[in-house]
Amino acid sequence: MIRTRTCGELTEKAIGQEAVLNGWVHRRRDHGGLIFIDLRDRWGITQVVFNPAQGTDTHTKAKDLRSEYCVAVKGTVAKRPAGTENPKIATGMIELIANRLEIFNPSLTPPFEIAEETELNEELRYQYRYLDLRRQSNLQRLVLRHEVLRVMRRVLEDERFIEVETPVLTKSTPEGARDYLVPSRLNPGKFYALPQSPQLFKQILMVAGFERYYQIARCFRDEDLRADRQPEFTQLDLEMSFVNEEMIFSLMEKLFSDVWKEVLHRDLPVPFPRLTYEESMRRFGTDKPDLRYGMELIDLTPLFAETSFQRFREVVAKGGVVKCVVVPEATRLSGKVIDGFTEAAKHLGAQGLVTIRLTEKEWICPVAKHLGEETLQRAVGQAKARPGDLILMVADQPAITARVLSGLREHSARLMELIPKGEFRFVWLTDFPLFQWDPELKRWQSEHHPFTAPRQEDIPLLEKEPQKVRSRSYDLVVNGVELGSGSIRIHERNVQEAIFRVLGLEPREVQERFGFLLEAFQYGAPPHGGIAPGIDRLITLMTDAPSIREVIAFPKTQKGVDLMTQAPSDVREDQLKEVGISVRKMISSVPRP
Ligand code: ASP
Repeated sequence: MIRTRTCGELTEKAIGQEAVLNGWVHRRRDHGGLIFIDLRDRWGITQVVFNPAQGTDTHTKAKDLRSEYCVAVKGTVAKRPAGTENPKIATGMIELIANRLEIFNPSLTPPFEIAEETELNEELRYQYRYLDLRRQSNLQRLVLRHEVLRVMRRVLEDERFIEVETPVLTKSTPEGARDYLVPSRLNPGKFYALPQSPQLFKQILMVAGFERYYQIARCFRDEDLRADRQPEFTQLDLEMSFVNEEMIFSLMEKLFSDVWKEVLHRDLPVPFPRLTYEESMRRFGTDKPDLRYGMELIDLTPLFAETSFQRFREVVAKGGVVKCVVVPEATRLSGKVIDGFTEAAKHLGAQGLVTIRLTEKEWICPVAKHLGEETLQRAVGQAKARPGDLILMVADQPAITARVLSGLREHSARLMELIPKGEFRFVWLTDFPLFQWDPELKRWQSEHHPFTAPRQEDIPLLEKEPQKVRSRSYDLVVNGVELGSGSIRIHERNVQEAIFRVLGLEPREVQERFGFLLEAFQYGAPPHGGIAPGIDRLITLMTDAPSIREVIAFPKTQKGVDLMTQAPSDVREDQLKEVGISVRKMISSVPRP
């Protein structure tokens, strides 16, 4: 009994027609004589009625049906009796009066409800991911993901990009994370690395004259996993020749506004606003600003440089800054919640937090005495705070102050429910520094990656004052989430070599790791640039999913384990032998997390 219709399409127009449906038993109700099942397939749900009058055999068989049995039913479409219609679903006006039933496969009792989407622990869900994915919300998120990729492909097709697959067994590409390594049987003792991104291949494709490349690329980074990370993730990776930043920005704006229009049926205002790195750090304390709410950072450093409040004055004298955020109407919060801000600040790395609560009657500040009346007045004035507001003040080195206040800004926006739902605020971040100093390793690191071009006018500063060199990289940030980074690249051998020198790479290492790239640059490499928005993060945002794992068909846990297949796993001794690896007992016997 192959289906003639789907479970989502029968309406009143089909009344009287015969139909065969295939699907799963979503719910079953036995009303004595009549047995009802909601039959589900990918397209929807149709109510099926087994009436003993239509054939006792079929009715008897239907008594055996249980949730998640996979079946075929044949019957006649009928109008539902008055009062039993369900206007919430497309098929809610009709039912199928069954006269034949075939059970393709029974089902064990599922370990959790599929029809009722109750909250469940993730472990059980991921162990039975095939059942979890039968839940409508999960299916819908993956359908939306597919729709997004379809629109992206269409836009890039219109723009005459070509999709090229790059290798998965590669040489390590540094994107700042650890590589996943794969031993090579044919080259004993040697390893491939899974790509952290197709960065070098896409640049080589530009040298090859492809001009416009894209790929829905899987990338692998062996990092400690946080809520928004997976060991393997997907990017829309693209690269173009003969472009500048503006051309990449407008392509992305077209791409995302089309995605929003076609998938979410919403207009996305373009062009996206832009912020320089410097402005973003100053106003929001972060290079991933969430523009859905205000509470910008206010600089009180000049005020405290000259006050009698010794603690702050000292911080300023040592190159520190004093800044604050004003949480509107927060004095209604309990003292305990306000103490929570201090805890949060310490957690973020602050030495302490100075709070000023402005009630209608008084200003409450634990260090009011030390601040002195006048300084307090001026601080409140400069913060433009009003009765009801809470001022959170931090004095520390610029990077720490920024981190703490940007964290508190986000924390309090959530707490005060100041974040509008369903709003998407895209912003371009530009003018990043090319390098950042790594105090632990005591050397310069690329802020983006080593292939990012410096601003032309800053090239002479490269080796003398690397801290002053600005890069041609850009980030696309949405609602405080970095959706993707990109840059105009270096296409000249001498500039690329200078960058490697600043990064402290020995010529021999450069030759060994990047010799092919440097060589390629000598054969008429065109100027080029690109970007790579993260698909998993994008879909998480678009569906407001609780975690990135919910938008990936087969995700891994925070410990990098696939609970369904139990990867990673032990391998046979002979497999190891073939690739010339021996595993120390100690490592192989670590219990599975
Ligand atoms: N390769 C970069 C990344 O994976 C993106 C790019 O520069 O295009 O973040």
